[in-house]
This record gives sequence, C-alpha cells and structure tokens, in this order.
Amino acid sequence: MGVPCPRCLDHDTREVSDGMCPQCFGTSIDGGYYFGIPMKVLLQQEGPRKKGVSPDIGTTDPRRRTVRSVHYPMICSKDLWISARSADRYEIGVVNIVTFVRETPVVGVYEFKMLPRTSIAYSDQVSAKAVTLPVEQPTGTEHTWHGKLDCD
Ligand SMILES: [Zn+2]
Repeated sequence: MGVPCPRCLDHDTREVSDGMCPQCFGTSIDGGYYFGIPMKVLLQQEGPRKKGVSPDIGTTDPRRRTVRSVHYPMICSKDLWISARSADRYEIGVVNIVTFVRETPVVGVYEFKMLPRTSIAYSDQVSAKAVTLPVEQPTGTEHTWHGKLDCD
C-alpha cells in the first residue's frame, strides 16, 4: 500500500500518532494520497431519479452519503474524495462492488463520510496534490491502474 510514514508512524502499533502530519496527511503512508483522479459519481436517491452523472452529490444527510460510480480506477476505503463544486472532502468508507464483468469489478457503491473542516484533508498541500495530474500518465489499460492503485 506504500511506504510507511517515517515521521509519525508509531513503531510498535503501526498507528498514526499525528493526525495532522504534513508528511502523510494522517494516512500513515509516506506522501499521503495518490494524485487525484477526476471521478464522476451518481447519487443514490430515493424518489424520482435524476438522469446522468453529477459532479457533486446531494442527499438529506450532508455528512454521510451513498454514492454509485464506475469502479475505475480502483476506489478503496480510506480514499479521499473532493467535491468539485463545494470543495468538501469526504473519506470513503464501505465499498461494495455491485457489478462484475468477468470477475473484474466495474460498478461500486460507496459510503462517503464528510470530513470536518479541521481535517488536514482541507490543507493547501492536499488541495494542490488533488488537482495535479499524475506525473506518469496512465496507458489506459486496466492493468496499469491496478498496479498503481491496488487497495492492499
Ligand atoms: Zn505521518
């Protein structure tokens, strides 16, 4: 999953000792989050269904949402999702793959948990990283994404 943070990771428990760590952004992985990848999500709604994808999500509970999206690239629990419209940041909770094609996950339903404004996920560093394209451009093959974004 990446190199453990050399700054804040507790040697014995392997837990993050500093949730505001500037080296790993509280993720325990050196460098923190991967570079951002634009992601369109579809609301899970009760009542009349809206057509198409939305750049944002909006249901009744503003802090906890259920979102459906193409599972590409791989989306993992603990990933960060940033709203393009409001700049709210969400941590991804439970991931449920709902559609497989030949054992490859293609559609997932995700729990989004809004992070409090005090979270380091709102810092300029995370913002800058999230809007920066990956240095290495993906070839577009699934193999490349899996190699770079494996959840394990
Ligand atoms: Zn750290």
